[in-house]
Amino acid sequence: MVQITDAVEEVRRRIDIVDLVSQDVALRRSGRNLKGLCPFHSEKTPSFHVNPERQIWKCFGCGAGGDIFSYVQKRDNMTFSEALEWLARRAGVTIERGGRAGSAQSEKQKIFKINEIACEFFQEMLSNSEKARAYLVERGVSESAIRKYKLGYAPDAWDALAQHLGRKQVSLAEAARAGLVIARESSEGYYDRFRDRLIFPILDASDRVVAFGGRTLGSDPAKYINSPESTVFAKNKTLYALNFARRAIVDQDQVIVVEGYMDAIAAQEAGFENTVATMGTALTEEHVNVLARFTKNAVLAFDADSSGMAAALRGSPVFERAGFNVRIMVMPKGEDPDSLLRGGDRHRFTVMIEKALPVLDYKVKLALTGHDLRTDEGKTAALKAAVAVLAEVESAVERERLIKYLAKYHPNFSTGTIRAEDHIRSEVETLRRRAVRAGEAGRSREEPTQHIRTNPNLLERLEKIVLGTIIAGKVEAGKVFEVIPAKEFTGESTRQLAEALYSQFLELGKIKVESLITMLADTPAGDLLTELTLGLDESELNHPFDEVVRAIEREKKKLRHARMRALAQKFQEGVIKKGDEEFEEYWRLVKELKGTSSNAV
Ligand SMILES: [Zn+2]
Repeated sequence: MVQITDAVEEVRRRIDIVDLVSQDVALRRSGRNLKGLCPFHSEKTPSFHVNPERQIWKCFGCGAGGDIFSYVQKRDNMTFSEALEWLARRAGVTIERGGRAGSAQSEKQKIFKINEIACEFFQEMLSNSEKARAYLVERGVSESAIRKYKLGYAPDAWDALAQHLGRKQVSLAEAARAGLVIARESSEGYYDRFRDRLIFPILDASDRVVAFGGRTLGSDPAKYINSPESTVFAKNKTLYALNFARRAIVDQDQVIVVEGYMDAIAAQEAGFENTVATMGTALTEEHVNVLARFTKNAVLAFDADSSGMAAALRGSPVFERAGFNVRIMVMPKGEDPDSLLRGGDRHRFTVMIEKALPVLDYKVKLALTGHDLRTDEGKTAALKAAVAVLAEVESAVERERLIKYLAKYHPNFSTGTIRAEDHIRSEVETLRRRAVRAGEAGRSREEPTQHIRTNPNLLERLEKIVLGTIIAGKVEAGKVFEVIPAKEFTGESTRQLAEALYSQFLELGKIKVESLITMLADTPAGDLLTELTLGLDESELNHPFDEVVRAIEREKKKLRHARMRALAQKFQEGVIKKGDEEFEEYWRLVKELKGTSSNAV
């Protein structure tokens, strides 16, 4: 048993980052590094680097980077301590725990343990229940799928699970926190949450049971229920069957999102392994952030009924804001992915994925449905609805494409395509002009821009070179921070990193990049650190240090001159007056910069 701080070092010593990453990414050697396609963003050419010497990784496409711990954290959506625990188990390191972090940890462990016991119980009950098995046979779920998805059955009784847990010495109060049993209101004791239901265990990235979904096999009006949220289960972050789909999503660079457990199982079993299901909730930003680690292409395959379509449309902006390319599958009436695939029609589903419409086209199609397009009145009403959709489209090219498509629904289409298009175009433009005017009225006058003839990017670049020189061990940190105090670095990330380097130097008398990377994981300073450790050219590191320092001082002086001039102008214009804070700043700058010229400004 080792203490946590030692465990971090021990795990780092035992696990090789190349082995770890190779599980998810095909790596090829490229100079001192290995390169592959980033698992966290979608790309065609590799910008994901792994450096075996430093044991770090960095993607120059999306900017993510770090060490083995942050890699597992990001990949499996874990906290640092969960990633440490996962890696420790892999490396055969046992961690000694204590204090409050320890008890929070064990609460999670307890819930996982209870869920595991319940999961096995439900599985056993399924093998004994003819009714539940008959239902699965009817739905076309194979024996191997039953085992793979650990499907189960909660018996038609008030306390079957509660009694079983009792026999296993599980505290029912803890089982209640796991959401499996509910305390009785009128008397002592607990009753089962899931009764007479088919059970779908929900597994996390490490295949641990975080929660259960249950479909009634009786007459309960609540067709589906889920475990409540717990310390291991957050509904708005969880996607069903993602643990099985992860690899396929990366390989195919696409995810299919469906609505139900059965849809996800049917799709995966039919070979569409890149399918996940929402948990009966709307798509949230958290869901999308989880998926964004694997791909930026999504196909929403929701039910054809109006609530399914509405859900797809509500979900699409969340994806679009995250930079996803989203398409919506047009499902035949009354069908869902499960019913489509149950017939074994793989080909039809493949075609439907290919033909899934971009959100905009889907909206236009939706605007047209519900109108009788055989009559002129119907066509006019349908066009009006479609024009409203088009007016919101920012891209002129897209608008033009859809105007051409809509022309055939124009009542005058037969007398001339051009005239029909012109008419639709002018309707769209009218709506757009109206929207722009409404927008302008609401906007306030913007502040005049200041003209600063200096280059803050250059200054930050120079600061990065200084920090890179320290990290490469070419100059001692103490010497650098004597000349340029850490807190005077001007960039957000450069200052944070300088301060971290400085405090580590004070503590250890040297710089230890590996442990800094762990400490700064997921901060701008951490990103910069991995970037500088892998990314700086030798040529940049070989700048004479004094020269870089002089260049920094020159740039800073330029910035201060520019600031002084801007403040002077504000004073002349009467925007600030004596006694104001900015006037005081101006006066300070005048005194400081007296006698120094802003040479070359
Ligand atoms: Zn990336």
